[in-house]
Amino acid sequence: MQNKYALVTGGSRGIGRAVCLKLADMGYNILVNYKGNTEAAEETAKLVRDKGVAAEIMMFDVADKENIKKVLGGWVEANTDKLVEVLVNNAGIRQDILMMSMSDEQWDSVLDTSLQGMYHVTKQVLNNMLMNRYGRIINMVSLSGIKGMPGQVNYSAAKAGMIGATKALAQEIAKRNVTVNAIAPGFIKTDMTEELNEKELSGMIPMKRFGTAEEVADLVGFFASKNASYITGQVISINGGLYT
Ligand code: NAP
Repeated sequence: MQNKYALVTGGSRGIGRAVCLKLADMGYNILVNYKGNTEAAEETAKLVRDKGVAAEIMMFDVADKENIKKVLGGWVEANTDKLVEVLVNNAGIRQDILMMSMSDEQWDSVLDTSLQGMYHVTKQVLNNMLMNRYGRIINMVSLSGIKGMPGQVNYSAAKAGMIGATKALAQEIAKRNVTVNAIAPGFIKTDMTEELNEKELSGMIPMKRFGTAEEVADLVGFFASKNASYITGQVISINGGLYT
């Protein structure tokens, strides 16, 4: 797997970091994308290298298509001997507020990061996956994108959009052995959920606890593996039994 890479957007922290480590365990070299937290990205890269595979940190803003083209597109062009075989579109942000009070910026930034980000990042690596006749694309969505959450009209729309794109793209490229699936976590313990009242919210969850980033990463690992060869266009929830 010397030349095989997995690209994880938002790989510096939280679920993304756990995913980087899981895919490293599977033998993939890792491209750790992040927005600005170089220290955290370097830490992830170090943990990956400790597993005996290569890691490169790659700073670009997934909400900025020119930045993606320059940095990721530049890497793809300069590294024709390397192949991104697994892409995990994981970077995402929340800007929770009722729609009546939402600013255009709050709407745009959430959509630009998750939905537009998925499109522009995937475009950079898709052709090579198709030519390789093998690849895995895994999109990190959310319970909110399935059922809709009040206070998260922007986030729910972004994640629901990703689900639609997952199902459509899966059908376009299935014959090339490139699968596209989505993972919909419920409440997972990361920086993103740090300010939530975990004790109170856990009461609604049948398993009575938040999930861990590692539990989500295990599911990513399954989708990324050859064992998931005949699964595409699916959305799997990982939420401790929260009804969706
Ligand atoms: P997190 O702890 O807040 O980490 C966010 C990661 O995304 C960081 O690595 C951050 O990079 C990166 N990032 C944010 N904006 C970016 C941008 N514009 N360009 C590139 N990277 C960017 O988040 P998390 O909880 O691990 O969430 C990961 C994914 O799971 C998200 O898509 C989220 O919507 C989804 N999810 C999470 C939960 C949950 O309960 N935690 C539930 C459902 C779905 P920096 O370190 O550089 O800032």
